[in-house]
Amino acid sequence: MTEAAPLAPGLYLVATPIGNLEDITLRALRVLQSVDRIACEDTRQTQKLLNHFHIQKPTVSYHQHNEVVRTVEFLDDLRAGKRIAIVSDAGTPGIADPGSKVVAAAIEAGIAVYPIPGANAAISALIASGLSTETFTFHGFLPAKAGQRQSQIESLAFNGTTHIFYEAPHRILETLADVITVLGPQHPIAIAREVTKLHEEHLRGPVSEVLATLTSRDAIKGEFVLLLSGNRITTEQASTPQTSIATAVDVLMKQGISEKDALKQVARDRNLGKSEIYRQWQREKARH
Ligand code: SAM
Repeated sequence: MTEAAPLAPGLYLVATPIGNLEDITLRALRVLQSVDRIACEDTRQTQKLLNHFHIQKPTVSYHQHNEVVRTVEFLDDLRAGKRIAIVSDAGTPGIADPGSKVVAAAIEAGIAVYPIPGANAAISALIASGLSTETFTFHGFLPAKAGQRQSQIESLAFNGTTHIFYEAPHRILETLADVITVLGPQHPIAIAREVTKLHEEHLRGPVSEVLATLTSRDAIKGEFVLLLSGNRITTEQASTPQTSIATAVDVLMKQGISEKDALKQVARDRNLGKSEIYRQWQREKARH
């Protein structure tokens, strides 16, 4: 094998694993070993990765609060012919993570910028989702406030593009309830949790079913990617009750509706009498 050429001067955007350390690439390791310094979102976090791979290199913090100051420093070094790597805590820098400001400034200053591709939670979740990968839209995190979140979901285009979001574990139930409010209980979604990690999980199906699965758990833990199908389901599909009555009632109760009112609403949605819904609900409960 021929010796690799010395690393050219420039800015290197190095993707790191999103859980499984085996997902670091050979090239990422070589670049991290060869640069003059590594700019990290959190130096302590990156130090663990560097220790694991026996890489000894000066690190410097680079995050949203010091991006402007650091960019000036990095540009001075880069103009002097140095090589700087940017890494985030996990995954691809610049994707819902710091990176894009220094990239824009480096390009403006005529400095070479090299992507070193690797793990990314959004793309990993998308390819395992079963939803269309032909076109997709990545939105980063949804707003934390319920009203703004619902408005964003309302404003999405349903022209076939799969919508990808990052979501925090303490907000995932509320967000799924918002998806039901805006798009209905049958809207197809996928959730990828703890991708590449020990407790990796992929949930796929109508949003109400996925919500029911998560709601039945004692605790919701881990990192989540939420994907929404880019196609609205037809009225016919929407009126076909694929969700059990118990699930439909649970979902409504999670939104703060009383059990009695939830049963009434499910009866109305399915064009059934209250006593019939009640009987079916008791039967379903007895089966579990
Ligand atoms: N730059 C990263 C990337 O390339 O994926 C994303 C950084 S963003 C600050 C962190 C969010 O990504 C988490 O809150 C979660 O929504 C998602 N995420 C990161 N790692 C994940 C994993 N292993 N499984 C599922 N989602 C993950």
